Amino acid sequence: QQIGVVAESGTGETRVAATPQTVKQLLALGYEVVVESGAGTASGFSDDAYGEAGAQVADAWQADVVLKVNAPSHEEIARLREGATLIGLIGAGQSPELVEELAARPITVLAMDAVPRISRAQSMDVLSSMANIAGYRAVIEAAHVFGRFFTGQVTAAGKVPPAKVLVAGAGVAGLAAIGAAGSLGAVVRATDPRPEVADQVRSLGGEFLAVEVAQEESTDGYAKATSEDYDRRAAEIYHEQAADVDVIITTALIPGRPAPRLVTAEDVAAMKPGSVIVDMAAAQGGNVAGTVAGRAVVTENGVTIIGYTDLAGRLPAQASQLYGTNLVNLLKLLTPGKDGQLVLDFDDVVQRSVTVVRDGEKTWPPPPVKVS
Ligand code: NAD
Repeated sequence: QQIGVVAESGTGETRVAATPQTVKQLLALGYEVVVESGAGTASGFSDDAYGEAGAQVADAWQADVVLKVNAPSHEEIARLREGATLIGLIGAGQSPELVEELAARPITVLAMDAVPRISRAQSMDVLSSMANIAGYRAVIEAAHVFGRFFTGQVTAAGKVPPAKVLVAGAGVAGLAAIGAAGSLGAVVRATDPRPEVADQVRSLGGEFLAVEVAQEESTDGYAKATSEDYDRRAAEIYHEQAADVDVIITTALIPGRPAPRLVTAEDVAAMKPGSVIVDMAAAQGGNVAGTVAGRAVVTENGVTIIGYTDLAGRLPAQASQLYGTNLVNLLKLLTPGKDGQLVLDFDDVVQRSVTVVRDGEKTWPPPPVKVS
């Protein structure tokens, strides 16, 4: 069968669903690969580079299997050929109309953002790979705006203290931010309602600021909404920290709810001029008072609040490489014969979970998966 890698039409999208390196892996699974001209330009991959890797550069929309980053537009859905399999970030939970529109075509649609969070599926977990890149990039964005070193130095012109960075939420993105800020030499502190992350924070050289209240233990690895007691004590910690730290990076999310508000306008007002906040929850409503999604704003007291929602896409070559590798790993599962023939097995929980439409029939939502 033929795999088509199409160019992204979404404004501002920099990523592509395959790189020259992942094209070689797709060929090794027995597929032919066609890449649409210009598909890799914004990620720094030329048509020639795909050609050298063994792909044809031609119309990729007529392929048997179409690989994409973002959900398709109306026009793109119409371009898929009968019997095609489309694989990309679909956001089925947030877009019921899109699911209906996809199911109106005789196609199969697999959602990379629906890979279950079980150990066996980690190599296909796009949400984790993108969160990792975004956490790193959040630190780079903060360092770019911050007018000082992150690292402490003793120089002939005087002693420079290290920057202090607070990371709120120590999941995948938060841990990446802790690692990046620490490797630039900053003093890093972190909070999270899940006490089990304390060791992970410390192993990256960060200090875990425990919020000492009874908190219901998570059974699925995700945070639950925090208690009033927790929020009260955490608010005190954020207020104390705001006056002390130079940079705050917030990553707090609770699945299925708006982002919790952690940093108030008073906390922002307590920060020193020149301080920087990166609110990684901007697209889900924000963790910080005053965040504007998609933009950087400067407050009256000289604090920059960054609300960019495309942090992973700001490292396009890296994001495409990891996204492409996640796709290759899913295709390995879907190509048991390594013969270029895609076979969808509904007895496999990963394959069942990602399938939104099968042969024109809606299969969304999948049965819930117990997270290990
Ligand atoms: P997420 O993006 O849903 O949330 C980010 C972080 O915000 C979490 O650490 C959460 O505890 C924290 N948070 C929630 N409310 C908060 C509050 N009020 N204050 C401060 N922090 C708050 O989570 P994620 O990063 O996608 O994943 C969370 C965890 O899931 C990971 O740390 C990991 O242990 C697990 N996971 C497992 C797999 C797997 O395949 N087994 C894959 C991905 C993630």
